[in-house]
This record gives sequence, C-alpha cells and structure tokens, in this order.
Amino acid sequence: MIQRTAVRIEAHNPDNERATWQTLLARSVTRPETLLQRLGLDSRLLSDGAHTGHAAFPVRVPEPWLARIRYGDPADPLLRQVLPLADEGEPRPGFVSDPLQEADATATPGLIRKYRSRALLMVTGQCAINCRYCFRRHFPYEDHRLTPTQREDVISTLTASPEINEVILSGGDPLAVNDRLLAQWASALSSVPSLTRLRIHSRLPVVIPQRVDDALVGWIEQSRLDVVMVVHINHPAEIDDDVRTAMNRLKSAGVTLLNQSVILQGVNDHPDTLQALSEALFAAGILPYYLHAFDPVAGAHHFDVSDDRARAMVRELQARLPGYLVPRLVRELPGRPGKTLLDVGME
Ligand SMILES: *Cc1c(COP(=O)(O)O)cnc(C)c1O
Ligand code: SF4
Repeated sequence: MIQRTAVRIEAHNPDNERATWQTLLARSVTRPETLLQRLGLDSRLLSDGAHTGHAAFPVRVPEPWLARIRYGDPADPLLRQVLPLADEGEPRPGFVSDPLQEADATATPGLIRKYRSRALLMVTGQCAINCRYCFRRHFPYEDHRLTPTQREDVISTLTASPEINEVILSGGDPLAVNDRLLAQWASALSSVPSLTRLRIHSRLPVVIPQRVDDALVGWIEQSRLDVVMVVHINHPAEIDDDVRTAMNRLKSAGVTLLNQSVILQGVNDHPDTLQALSEALFAAGILPYYLHAFDPVAGAHHFDVSDDRARAMVRELQARLPGYLVPRLVRELPGRPGKTLLDVGME
C-alpha cells in the first residue's frame, strides 16, 4: 500500500508535467526489469523467451504511459502491450516477419505507394513506444531521414502523380521527428498542387501527450493542406486527462481526429472493452476509424484473435452503438486497391 502511494506520487511528478516531450522520450524505461520493479511486479515474470524478445525488439515505455498502468497487476492491458512475454521466444508456423510485404511497394526512397489516391511517406523508423504486437518489430529501419536530393525526388514523384491527393506521414512514428523538419515537409508538400490533405499516423500524442505543443500546432495551423490525424489507441485506459487536453488542442487547430486499433488478445478482445473504447474516443473528440484484424507477426502469436471472434465482436458493437462509433474491421492484403473490409454480417 505504501508502495502504491509512492508510485502515485511519481506518476504525478511535477518534473514530468513540465518536461518537454523530448525529455520525456529520453527518460523512457528501456529495461524490462525496471518496468516490472516500478509496477511492484516480480522479475520472475521475465522468462528466457521474454529476454529473447527484448533483445530483438527492446522495451521502450515513456513515463506518461507507465503512469496509466495499474500498480501490481500483471494482466493490465496497457502493460501487456509493452511487456515481452515468454511466447515471444517460441516460433510458431505461419507467423512471419513481413506479413504486409511492404518491401515491394517503394515508389522512391521514403515513399510507399500501394493505393491510387494516397501514398505513405516514411519520415522515421523510430517510435516513442515499442508495441510487442507490431509488425514493424522486424524492420531494422535505421532512421529514414532522407537526403535533400531524395526529398526532391519525393516531391517530383508526387508532382508527376496528380491522382495522389493525400500524403500520409508514417514511420515508425512520424511525430518522433522534430517540428523543424516536419514543418519543412509540410511546406514542400504544400507546393504540390494536387495534394489537398496531409494525414499523420501517430501514436505519440497518446503515449506522450506533451508532444502536442506550440511548435506542432504552429505548423499544422499554417499549412494550406487539411490535416487529418489518425491516432492509435487500443484500450480506454490509454485516454487520460492529458490525452484529452492534447486532442482538444488539435481539434481547435482544425485537425480531424480518427483512431485505429488492433484487436489484441488480453487487451481489448471483449465487446464491453471495445464499446467503452468507442465511447471514450468520442468523448475525447476522436472517431473510431479502423479495427485491424490481427496479422500473424512472428513473436506475437499470444495476441492472436481469430477472425471469427473479431467478426462476432464487431457484430455485437453494431447492436450496441450508433454506426459512427463502430470501427471498420479491416485487414491489409497484398495486391488489393485498398484495405479489405471483413464482412461481419448482420445479427
Ligand atoms: C493503410 C494504408 C494507407 C491508407 O489507407 P486508408 O484506407 O486510406 O486509411 C495508404 N497506404 C498504405 C500503404 C497503407 O497501408
Ligand atoms: S507505435 Fe505504432 S509503429 Fe510504433 S511499435 Fe507501436 S504500433 Fe508499431
């Protein structure tokens, strides 16, 4: 009990509240032992498989995320997303390292194009948090920072492809990059006449809400492009007051806020959780967009939820929620013109 109080105080450490996002990022917990110790959990939870997982894809948990994990609960849904488990060391047939075959779709370095009207611009390979279920765990991207010539190639490729009207900043996490560089990108992209929207796929405003600062809001407000931000939240407990404040600031800056989740065993594989998530998203000014069916990523089979169970859960959501709060259940399949909608059928 005394320890619980200590953790509460630490979670509200005024140093953390005043810190810039860069400082918070640099202070992230990067050892699984530290993570468990901070939460009052036994380090024997870490088996050999967990150490293998950590060696391949290191633990990274920023303080604001840690503060949302329930003390002393090894099954906490936020902890499960970041703690390597024994299962990571056990290969499983059919679970592969590049389920999306993204390596084949590079238009010019940094630009991935699979769909007609939109292209992904990979601005960095870094993330603020390392999610154990992520397919990107197997991409040893170094920083995707492009040279000036490569950046010009991206802009000329886009200018020569007028059917592309939306560029998606992706990664890694594109907001792990500093705002000076992002503002340069936003300005270069504004010079492409056919572009109307700039989309940002990022988990950072959720993981470290302090990321939404004057510098970020500044270049977003200045851009001629309509800005859409797709955040990534899997469980309602990820949304705290700081996240709501950050979302409010983005909304005031005219940003359209959407969310994508992944269906994950032991995190959100229950209709009650998904319903609470949709309600909490709406209350924070965010609409549910995609619910990704689980991809068979090597080292992550302990998160697997079958398509049949996922479909049944979304059917249940359709019965409980207004249509605009039901996420689209999708999977990305190679060679399709867009994401594939999984048919959930009717009740
Ligand atoms: C998901 C994805 C997009 C965006 O697709 P939307 O359906 O517009 O959200 C674009 N390019 C690639 C390569 C993607 O994987
Ligand atoms: S933040 Fe996104 S890209 Fe980065 S590890 Fe998590 S799920 Fe993967």
